Amino acid sequence: MFNLKEIQDFAPFCLSCLGRVVGKIGFGLDNRERGIEILNQLEIQEVAGLEDSLISDDSDCKICDGLISEIPNFVVLASASMSEYSISSFKIGTIVDKDLLSRESDFQLVFGENLGESIKSQLNRETGIGVWKNTAIEAKIESPDAVAIIDTSYDTIELEIKSLFIEGNYNKFDRTVPQTRWPCSRCKGMGCRRCDNTGQLYPDSVQSLIANSFSRESLCTEDLFHGMGREDIDAAMLGDGRPFVLELRMPKVRDLNLEGLGKEINEANKDRIKVSNLRFVDRPRVAELKNTVCDKSYRVDISVSDITSIESLKKGSQRLTGTVIEQRTPTRVSHRRADLVRPRLINSVDVVSFEDNMVELVIRAQHGTYIRELVSGDKGRTVPSLSSLIDANCKVEVLDVLNLHLEAKEEKND
Ligand SMILES: [Zn+2]
Ligand SMILES: [Zn+2]
Repeated sequence: MFNLKEIQDFAPFCLSCLGRVVGKIGFGLDNRERGIEILNQLEIQEVAGLEDSLISDDSDCKICDGLISEIPNFVVLASASMSEYSISSFKIGTIVDKDLLSRESDFQLVFGENLGESIKSQLNRETGIGVWKNTAIEAKIESPDAVAIIDTSYDTIELEIKSLFIEGNYNKFDRTVPQTRWPCSRCKGMGCRRCDNTGQLYPDSVQSLIANSFSRESLCTEDLFHGMGREDIDAAMLGDGRPFVLELRMPKVRDLNLEGLGKEINEANKDRIKVSNLRFVDRPRVAELKNTVCDKSYRVDISVSDITSIESLKKGSQRLTGTVIEQRTPTRVSHRRADLVRPRLINSVDVVSFEDNMVELVIRAQHGTYIRELVSGDKGRTVPSLSSLIDANCKVEVLDVLNLHLEAKEEKND
């Protein structure tokens, strides 16, 4: 059944490499036992010296170059690489030299097609079992906390630790902090005189005020802040807050006390920001969040340059209510957004107060509406606008996001 001459061309090889040629069949046996089984079938014991010429020690094998004998070493390396991380599951991956893989597949073809198991499977499996026995951490194929990739040519390990994702809502009361860290444009975050060696254009951000506590506790290497949209730096975020996901990369500690951290952040930043509703989520939630848009309500203080009456203001606001306006990309953002005319529905505009040419409005509008330009008209780029309707120059002085109407959410489309 097997061509002994062809097999001899590859000798000597270890029992594992021989057994792997039928690795996909004969469940419940390990490759060494399969190797012995093949030797029995070849009945080579009857020819003096034949077995010795075919079978080598694990370390002298011409197929795997002794890689199988290195498994105990890989177990030690992989266990050590994970030792600093509190993880509950792991997976082993291996990078194996291409020449070795092609030699292996040539050898396996002698015994028939599609019967053999790759050496990578055996290395992954047996190293995984060893690490599990060593560390008592569970080996898991689907979405493990850690993946250790062993480069078998160099005995190096690249460890990937699954990020932690924490979702919550934030409120922002401080009108001087940006949503995310903002690296200094001069030194790109390295630290220079202009940024007082902080590397940041703004000393704090919603991201840093929230993430610092999480970084400290999780001992992560980096944090990323994914917001469901963002407000301007000088706008407050009120109401139920804005959903966000905080991503912690390479965390050493995964078991975080979210309630305690939320409390700590809120107490330390009382008049600046607040977090609520903290919970662990999975990575796909980030894309979902990024693709969700909804109507928003704003509270704005506007100044009106020319003398106007409350009646005229109310009339103008009423005419905007329920109207689809046409908004050309404002010049202030045209460097990062395509120059387009976008139709946007203004759900409602309500006058709250009017005093000394200062007006307070509450506006609810479709996602992506530029509120400042809705008020000012942006030199005719937004039509109609409050300015054009009341025939006076109106300007937003203070803008706050009152709420995100997530009950009226839709898919992002531009
Ligand atoms: Zn071998
Ligand atoms: Zn700088």
